[in-house]
Amino acid sequence: AGFNSIEAIAVASPGELVAAAEVGEATASKIIAGAREVADVGGFETGDRILERRRLVGKINTGSKNLNELLGGGMETQSIMELYGEFGSGKTQVAHQMAVNVQLPSEMGGLHGSVIIIDTENTFRPERIAQMVKGLPPSPDGQERDPADFLKNISVARAFNSNHQILLAESAMEMAEKAKDSDYPVRLIIVDSVTAHFRAEYVGRGTLANRQQKLNKHLHDLMRFGDLNNALILVTNQVMAKPDTFFGDPTKPVGGHVLGHTATFRLYLRKSKGEKRIARLVDSPNLPDGEAVFTVTTEGVKD
Ligand code: ADP
Ligand code: MG
Repeated sequence: AGFNSIEAIAVASPGELVAAAEVGEATASKIIAGAREVADVGGFETGDRILERRRLVGKINTGSKNLNELLGGGMETQSIMELYGEFGSGKTQVAHQMAVNVQLPSEMGGLHGSVIIIDTENTFRPERIAQMVKGLPPSPDGQERDPADFLKNISVARAFNSNHQILLAESAMEMAEKAKDSDYPVRLIIVDSVTAHFRAEYVGRGTLANRQQKLNKHLHDLMRFGDLNNALILVTNQVMAKPDTFFGDPTKPVGGHVLGHTATFRLYLRKSKGEKRIARLVDSPNLPDGEAVFTVTTEGVKD
C-alpha cells in the first residue's frame, strides 16, 4: 500500500493507515506506536541527535555563486525549497539546473544523487538538461560528459490532476527506497508546479478548506520523503495579483498559509534585464533575508 519501510509507517497518521490497510483507528494507532519504537523516530530528540542528523544535510550548488551565498552555500537536503514568481521568472530553469547539479560529485557541489520530477505543467525538457550538462565547468578528471548519463538519473512523471500528483509523490517513496543503496540514491525531488492543479481544480471559497487539506497532506508526504531520503524537496509556485496592494510588490505566492508554513525556504524570483534574474530569500529558519542576482543562459544558471 505504499509503505515500504518501518520508518514510513512510523511517521504515518492513523487516518492514512486506516485508509490504506482497512484496519480500525485503534489498530492503526497501535501499529504506528510499534513502528515508532522499532524505527526510533517520531518522539522527542535531544539537540545533539538533531545536530547529528543535520550533519548529514547536503548542500547542492545552484550554478550561481551569488545564489549559493544567499542560501548559505547552496540548496539543502531535508528541507523544502519553494521557488515562486511570475511566468518566465526562471523557476523551471532553476529546477532543471538542480536536476543536473545534484548528480555531480561532491567536489563540484553535487551529491552524486538521482532525481525524481513530478511535472504538472508539461515543461520538463530533456534537451534543456543536455544544454546545461554541456554548460557545466570541466570535470576535475578532465572526462567528457555525456548528457545521456545525466538523463538516465532523472525520472519524470506527468501529473494529470492533483490526486494523481499526490499518488505520484507516494510512488516516489517506493522508487527512492529501491535506489537507496544504489550508486545514485535519490537526493532531489522536484514538483513543478506544486500548486497549479490544486488552484485549477478547487475554485471558489467553499472549496478552500478541502484544497488546503489536500495540499497539506501532499506537502507532508514530500517533507517525509526529504527526511527519510536525505533529499531536497524543490517545489515551484505561481504568484497571484493582490489587488488591494497600493505600495510594494502587488503579487504574492498562491497556496496560502499551508505552503507558507511548510516550506523551509521561500525564494522569490523576478525577471530583470535580459538574462538577469533577482532572487529574494523570503523565509529561512537560519539565514538573513536578502537578494542575489543570477542569470539564466543557454548554458544554464550562472552568475
Ligand atoms: P517559469 O518561472 O515560468 O517556470 P522558466 O523557468 O521556464 O519560467 O523560464 C523561462 C525563461 O528561461 C525564458 O523566458 C528564457 O529567458 C529562459 N530560457 C529558457 N530556455 C532557454 C535557453 N535554451 N537558453 C537561454 N535561456 C532560456
Ligand atoms: Mg515553469
